[in-house]
Amino acid sequence: MSHARNIGPMQASPRCGAQTRNGDNCRAPALRGKARCRMHGGALGSGAPFGNGNAVKHGFFTSEAIDERKLVRTVLIEAEDFLRKLPAGSEATRSPNESGTQHTAPGTDSSPSYLTNDRK
Ligand SMILES: [Zn+2]
Repeated sequence: MSHARNIGPMQASPRCGAQTRNGDNCRAPALRGKARCRMHGGALGSGAPFGNGNAVKHGFFTSEAIDERKLVRTVLIEAEDFLRKLPAGSEATRSPNESGTQHTAPGTDSSPSYLTNDRK
């Protein structure tokens, strides 16, 4: 039984062409839709991701965004300076839980039990 094998289409398929260690071109068939064989970068999952998320332009470093951050920083610094320049007893420098006069008499503990360390 002898018949000629039909190897024409296989021979005609595109080749990998990567340079091998001995200087020749790789003669393995390139994968479908790729320019290289399975051993030279054509393998499934190799290469850049679809859409290339590494090159996404997010706009964080546009001149508008940089100027906006600069403005916010300046406003915050000015506000902090303004608060520091206020007189010490003024209302703005107090924390909210500090009221002007002390309502509790000394010795009486008005704070809730979960805030104190006393065990009764
Ligand atoms: Zn190859």
